[in-house]
Amino acid sequence: MGKRVIVIGAGFSGLATATALADQGYAVTILEKNESAGGRARKFETQGFVFDMGPSWYWMPDVFEKYFAQFGKKPSDYYHLIRLDPSYTVIFGSNDAVDLPASLPKLESLFEAMETGAAKQLRSFLKQAAYKYDIGMNTFVWKPSRSIAEFLSFKLLLDVSRLDVLQSFHAHIRKYFKHERILKLMEFPILFLGALPENTPAMYSLMNYAEIALGTWYPMGGMHEIVKAMVQLAQEKGVQINYEEEVQELVIKQDRVQEVVTSTGTYHADAVVAGADYHHVEDRLLKPEYRNYSEHYWQKRTLAPSCVLYYLGVNRRVDKLNHHNLFFDEDFGVHSHEIYTQPQWPSKPLFYVSAPSKTDPAVAPEGCENLFVLIPVAPALAGDTEEIREHYYHMVMERLERYVGHDIRSHVIYKRSYAHSDFIQDYHAFKGNAYGLANTLLQTAFLKPNLKSYKVKNLYYTGQLTVPGPGVPPSLISGLVVAQELNREQGSKV
Ligand SMILES: Cc1cc2nc3c(=O)[nH]c(=O)nc-3n(C[C@H](O)[C@H](O)[C@H](O)COP(=O)(O)OP(=O)(O)OC[C@H]3O[C@@H](n4cnc5c(N)ncnc54)[C@H](O)[C@@H]3O)c2cc1C
Repeated sequence: MGKRVIVIGAGFSGLATATALADQGYAVTILEKNESAGGRARKFETQGFVFDMGPSWYWMPDVFEKYFAQFGKKPSDYYHLIRLDPSYTVIFGSNDAVDLPASLPKLESLFEAMETGAAKQLRSFLKQAAYKYDIGMNTFVWKPSRSIAEFLSFKLLLDVSRLDVLQSFHAHIRKYFKHERILKLMEFPILFLGALPENTPAMYSLMNYAEIALGTWYPMGGMHEIVKAMVQLAQEKGVQINYEEEVQELVIKQDRVQEVVTSTGTYHADAVVAGADYHHVEDRLLKPEYRNYSEHYWQKRTLAPSCVLYYLGVNRRVDKLNHHNLFFDEDFGVHSHEIYTQPQWPSKPLFYVSAPSKTDPAVAPEGCENLFVLIPVAPALAGDTEEIREHYYHMVMERLERYVGHDIRSHVIYKRSYAHSDFIQDYHAFKGNAYGLANTLLQTAFLKPNLKSYKVKNLYYTGQLTVPGPGVPPSLISGLVVAQELNREQGSKV
């Protein structure tokens, strides 16, 4: 019997770390508070609709390939991926929308039609972005980032300088393009990182490379197919997953977690990996003397936005929508001010609609549409009431209906909303965050909350609040990096 590792939470990071450790011979148990795996990427089914609750963009397919390859598998052993074309649609007004083609030559023509010389500029932009993707995704994100010392080799310092970490993406992109619309299109992937392009290092043009060169994909059946695959692989490796078992306390003796106390029992642990929200683990599961960070530290962190979501089952088709639809039909400056500068409920928010039933007949009954509507909002907003959710529902549906040219609301046969208080209740999310910490310069690599406890010798952290950051691919990487660190440090000692 291998040494016993307890993993808290069956999100992507917890599943990844558990699988990698079980593969190394550890006896691994995941304790998950909810009734199913996936964390923020759970799904629910009702009336013939299958709703992905969180992620809908499958980017960086190479990271998923690498993940499964580590265990001698391929994503195609578990799910069928297709590349979306157009990748997505950006709606600037009722009669004004741009489809982003998957093909690079077509995208170049689209840009050239907006700005003379933009095709050539796009090629040159993508060349440097490809370099950043290579260094960023093949070297940097795999570093445990436990101290600055990891970055102090001459080669890495050279890489850091080429990665443009000190320049903002906002300034960087303006060296290539002038047209307002191209700038908006190129800044969109940066919004995934949870901060304004002004506050995001230019290194993250790697996101544009991911979007344009590597493409937007969709696993048939829905994003939850990834979770299903990871659970199957974890179980093949012998991981035990206990659902509806919330961890309530980590008992520390001689600076080690000795026991993990849950809602239904107590477990002995040789080591623990916390894949639940970092702040929750520190604040609720550990006594103050064993926490890495003070409450003051956490209050000073810049969180990525939270969101208000609507899962809608519609009993008719909505022809004008594509799979991914971004409504940029209001002023981005005002909305971003209301998210980042002066957090408040937004006056006229931009929003996003995913319609996976455009691609996948399995996620809605015949003749119906499965819609997922997402409004980014500031975290920690007070007043997440039914009234406010209804207010925003009607606001965005009015704009959606104006764009598609017909009524949708009277065809909604299933509706569920989800916002801050649900994130807190379901995931113990700090300030109701959806996507963890923003990727600002001061929250990058060794400046993020550390993946290892400074005070408890056998306690590690993984997931979107530690390195390398938020998003499905980074969460997978986080899980693998932590497993490697734990094995290196604890392997022979316990
Ligand atoms: C609405 C939304 C849309 C998104 N869209 C995308 C996208 O399109 N593409 C993309 O790449 N990323 C997207 N993301 C981000 C991505 O989903 C997350 O970064 C990722 O799922 C985080 O995984 P995790 O393992 O860090 O955390 P989580 O998924 O939160 O997993 C943590 C787990 O710990 C459990 N837990 C918490 N406390 C306890 C406890 N005390 N005891 C036991 N278990 C506990 C929770 O129930 C949960 O299952 C989106 C996120 C959201 C919310």
